[in-house]
Amino acid sequence: MTAIDDARALFRTLTGTEPAGAWSAPGRANLIGEHTDYNDGFVLPFAIPHRTYAAAAPRGDGRIRVASTFAEEPVEVALDELDRLFPSAGAPAVPEWAAYPLGVAWALLSRIDGSGVSGIDLAIASEVPVGAGLSSSAAIEGATATALDAVWGLEADPVALALAGRRAENEAVGAPTGIMDQMASMLGVADAVTFLDCRTLEARSIPTGFADAGLEVLVIDTRVSHAHSTGGYRERRASCERGAAALGVAALRDLSVADLPRAQALLDPVDFRRVRHVVTEDQRVLDTVAALTDQGPRAIGGLLVASHVSMRDDFEISTPELDLAVETALAQGAVGARMTGGGFGGAAIALLDRSLVAPVSDAVHAAFAAAGHAAPHVFTVTPSAGPRRDV
Ligand code: ADP
Ligand code: MG
Repeated sequence: MTAIDDARALFRTLTGTEPAGAWSAPGRANLIGEHTDYNDGFVLPFAIPHRTYAAAAPRGDGRIRVASTFAEEPVEVALDELDRLFPSAGAPAVPEWAAYPLGVAWALLSRIDGSGVSGIDLAIASEVPVGAGLSSSAAIEGATATALDAVWGLEADPVALALAGRRAENEAVGAPTGIMDQMASMLGVADAVTFLDCRTLEARSIPTGFADAGLEVLVIDTRVSHAHSTGGYRERRASCERGAAALGVAALRDLSVADLPRAQALLDPVDFRRVRHVVTEDQRVLDTVAALTDQGPRAIGGLLVASHVSMRDDFEISTPELDLAVETALAQGAVGARMTGGGFGGAAIALLDRSLVAPVSDAVHAAFAAAGHAAPHVFTVTPSAGPRRDV
């Protein structure tokens, strides 16, 4: 069974009836531009083929019930209770997974006069690996937002749905993440990356040219799970905020590489390295867009590698597994490779010739085994389309 069948079967088990439809949204990988989103900067992600599905139908009693194949029990609340549940103070008042779809409902209702909307049942199933840095969170938010938008007849634009997803993640779940993941999922286009200015939310699709150049993107999921809502991610954000304040700018986006000597003089060494990552990463995103447009995808390898080195040494969010994945792919002749996503685990991507998919995959498995790491999941992803109605 595929995830869409799982979602529909779960809906039938939940309600004893057929869903009115099923909607889905993809996970994402980030080609380049890491930890730049919450610094108002630039990112270059793409939607992946792996999707989260939401089978849904309206119900008459003004209540919302969510179920997921990941969870034992469905969670049900009255729509007019959502305002009491969210924003969460500390841990969400519902099981954490349910705060994603219920938070999306809350965020969407807060934009409108919700008195006319029906109750709804939602059954969710996903093929996006969780905690792998491929944004299963944006996929569940996007699938929920797309289903609610259709069932409630909201006709919200994709950016509004992305913003509802982020609000759910920030205020209902309590994970302080930026807008990249939701925008990447909602704006996905086949064979293209989304060049997003996270300050203005202006987005442009940039064709990758990967297929024409005979290139594939290999994902190496280290299966070391990260946890966004804790520790390291918050510390990195705090360093960035201190850096921007010390340099007198609204966000690190407002600095350029030329400002780095001044930053070094003002900041403690750790905060300075965090700032240097973000400022140079913004520049690398711009350089990657220019290289893709002017020279083609083989010209971006050095930028991907420089991004990884910056995350490893300056932002300090890589892991031994991610470093090994990147080093092994490069040693086998990949055009470029880097960890992708928030770090502290998750996945790396490698851009490589189609003929290298099998050898790099084998080499990575062998290197992980030799180092005593758990076996990684290795698979290719093609930049893919955003949300859709499936049935
Ligand atoms: P990532 O987005 O990198 O996969 P996150 O920690 O941001 O990792 O989001 C993962 C969390 O999202 C899960 O722990 C779970 O709470 C929620 N989630 C994702 N997909 C589903 C799903 N299909 N059903 C229920 N919850 C999900
Ligand atoms: Mg996430």
